[in-house]
Amino acid sequence: MTEKLFYRDPYLREAKARILRAEERDGNVRVLLDRTIFYPEGGGQPSDRGMIEGNGFRVIVDRVHGKDEIWHEGKLEGRPPREGDEVRLILDWEWRYENMRAHTGQHILSAVIKGLLDADTTGFQIFPEYNKIEIDYPGELSWELIDEIERKTNEIVWGDAEVEVEVYDELPEELSARLRKAISEKVRPPIRIVKVGTADVTPCGGTHVKSTREIGIVKVLNFYRKSRRLWRIEFAAGNRALKALNEILGDYWGALGEMPNKNRPLRKRVLELREGLERLEEEKSKLRHEVWRWKAEALLGNAREIEGVRVITLVEGSPMKDAQAFAIYLVENNPNTVVLLAGKNYVVFAKNEKLDVSMKELLREVLREVGGGGGGSDNLAKGGGFKVSPEEVLEVALEKLRNVLSSRG
Ligand SMILES: [Zn+2]
Repeated sequence: MTEKLFYRDPYLREAKARILRAEERDGNVRVLLDRTIFYPEGGGQPSDRGMIEGNGFRVIVDRVHGKDEIWHEGKLEGRPPREGDEVRLILDWEWRYENMRAHTGQHILSAVIKGLLDADTTGFQIFPEYNKIEIDYPGELSWELIDEIERKTNEIVWGDAEVEVEVYDELPEELSARLRKAISEKVRPPIRIVKVGTADVTPCGGTHVKSTREIGIVKVLNFYRKSRRLWRIEFAAGNRALKALNEILGDYWGALGEMPNKNRPLRKRVLELREGLERLEEEKSKLRHEVWRWKAEALLGNAREIEGVRVITLVEGSPMKDAQAFAIYLVENNPNTVVLLAGKNYVVFAKNEKLDVSMKELLREVLREVGGGGGGSDNLAKGGGFKVSPEEVLEVALEKLRNVLSSRG
């Protein structure tokens, strides 16, 4: 059993303790202490970080867990710790204090949301850069609503309300009725009740600041619907709120600085860029059709005539997708025409739909000779993976097509 000093005084940054057990594995060590200031992970609050110093060794603590027996894990420096060693515990205070600010801020935020929307908080998690709650709310959240929630939350924060923790073996009826959140069946006495001024009464096992003023500010950063009734709200408190806002602002101004027109609002500038892109796409498409028209004209002028069918062959420099689009354009606009295109490791065979010859069959014949794979329909077939050059593939294709056309009768 480890004595939980963090409950007696959450502001304790250092303490002395004794090692009850120690286990070492691959340079990492886990240590069970008789007493600790390290909060173990639980209830949405992450575990504390810090150092355990003994005579001849040091543990850089990065994970703390357990209920009655609290284990401290981390990297070992120096000799292995032993049972009975006296140690000094040093908390990463900034980490813990920001967690306390965030945790207490969450109580108020959840209480305000319960009051305004009658929505229960069903989940809570502190992350290094922000926190997230999940609320059960079938309605719509908006920034207007969030604004109202934030104002009420910060009014309580700045009101300097006292945060009190009471411990009960059995809850008085009067107190049970005032709880924001019913006590889960899993909770065994002693039951810790956290009161935030007159704003919130709720069972909680975390660490909290003693006055709401210490939270500084609670700022919602984002919110979105997670499922039909569940909304996620991301928020930050204390110094982490400033850090998060600065990051977002840095991103905002940085993005605006990249714009041709650097005047706010960014959203308008983005829309302008998008419209510009759409115009360019349109222009590109027009130009492409213009090029196709010229290219088609030149190719048709040089086309072979086999058994009354116009046959165009070409070694293409463009990617297969573009070659295919051009082949389709060519046969759609020219009756009685077959197009055989070969590019870097691909072929595209296309024919006008009225023409009675199968491109799929032709491709199969060609692949039988040059290897590779592919397939398609009677009107359009594509293949690739052969070992010979595009010129050679075309030569084979032309010969096969000639055979097919002459055998048509
Ligand atoms: Zn709490």
